[in-house]
Amino acid sequence: MKVAKFGGTSLADAKQIAKVVNIVKSDPTRRIVVVSAPGKRFADDIKVTDLLIALAKAVLAGKPFESELTAVIERYAGIQQELGLDQGVVAEIRDDLHNRIQSRSENHAQFLDAMKAAGEDNCAKLVARVFAQQGLPAKYVNPQDAGMLLSEDFGNAQVLPESYTRLATLRDMQEVVVFPGFFGYTQRGQVVTFPRGGSDITGSILAAAVGAHLYENFTDVDSVFAVDPRVIPDARPIPVLTYREMRELAYAGFGVFHDEAIVPLVQAKIPICIKNTNRPEAPGTLIVPQRKYRHGEVIGIASAGGFSTIFLSKYMMNREVGFGRRLLQILEQEQLSFEHIPSGIDSMSVILRRAALTPKKEEHVLNRIREELRPDDVNIEHDLALIMVVGEGMRYAVGIAAKACAALANSGVNLEMINQGSSEISIMFGVKEMDHRAAVEALGGALLSH
Ligand code: ASP
Repeated sequence: MKVAKFGGTSLADAKQIAKVVNIVKSDPTRRIVVVSAPGKRFADDIKVTDLLIALAKAVLAGKPFESELTAVIERYAGIQQELGLDQGVVAEIRDDLHNRIQSRSENHAQFLDAMKAAGEDNCAKLVARVFAQQGLPAKYVNPQDAGMLLSEDFGNAQVLPESYTRLATLRDMQEVVVFPGFFGYTQRGQVVTFPRGGSDITGSILAAAVGAHLYENFTDVDSVFAVDPRVIPDARPIPVLTYREMRELAYAGFGVFHDEAIVPLVQAKIPICIKNTNRPEAPGTLIVPQRKYRHGEVIGIASAGGFSTIFLSKYMMNREVGFGRRLLQILEQEQLSFEHIPSGIDSMSVILRRAALTPKKEEHVLNRIREELRPDDVNIEHDLALIMVVGEGMRYAVGIAAKACAALANSGVNLEMINQGSSEISIMFGVKEMDHRAAVEALGGALLSH
């Protein structure tokens, strides 16, 4: 049995949904279909999830929200008309949105999640109807009825372990299951969502729960590429990756797959296939527990901006027992997670995601560090990009860092930081955001085989 997840661009309009119908029909082992909310139809379009967020914000601000509401409904109405579905479909969606607005909770984050979830929920109902209309017996399944229980972290939920046994019964459904991605319910019955892009997480949880033999993730690219094709246009498609390689690449900006979504699949050892809804005949990228690799081979280079560095120095830091612990304790108490901590004998840097820091929080954290750790110097910089060079073949291979550093130097890129993961399948390079593109080009040219 396969679980197939379709992303927002695969459901953006009637034409795309028709492709989804054909894909599901063409393989009777595709038994569970997870859907995102309709996404962008063209570059400047707005995703339904973003339209719903705008609607929720207008409601919370006590402003008139008719135009925001209409914008959401129009997206579904367009699909309904083009596919010749019953007009009642749109009326139901309108009622659903009104109900969500009326039963608005005092907790803003909770209300926002209830509104965001409407995108996937209504899309799943609609897709189930389209399947039935096209002669494919299908059933919309509500995540609450199916037992998708999540933690009470609005906008950032995690699956509760008991969900897996409950969701396993989906295996026995006669019809094709159409399941909305991105949200579940708390134990108290409130709607709660995963982080943005979280339909991938729903799909992988379901695949693990039913013991699927393959989890297919349909998106709008033929495969995962060795480097961002916007930077290196002739980037090579990657046919096979390991979970670990994918985790490292997804972490640093390979947008095709949510990094959290890998976890349930790794535990259940279920292979993942990234495929293109627009070209389902293309083989895609297969992600597996292990693969054959060439010694010294770099499989991919991923990169992402938006990181900040807190830099501390203190003479004799290496002799001060507990310094690192106290620093990390401050971050813990301030609810900040860190990404990396490169350190020297008298200095330490902490790399964080810039989005986690408001100016007020930043000032507060720096003040605490000054008062509690008494460093000689502490400062923060906000314009760091991280580049991950990844490959199973890098383990035990000598000279990759040397080649990479030489390529960066030849391109005039100043290296801010270098860190090798203890798994030895990745090396991370930190550069200023303004050097981001030049660095990726240099590393791609020097390390990837063309
Ligand atoms: N619709 C949600 C988002 O835009 C979740 C998803 O598409 O995976 O983030």
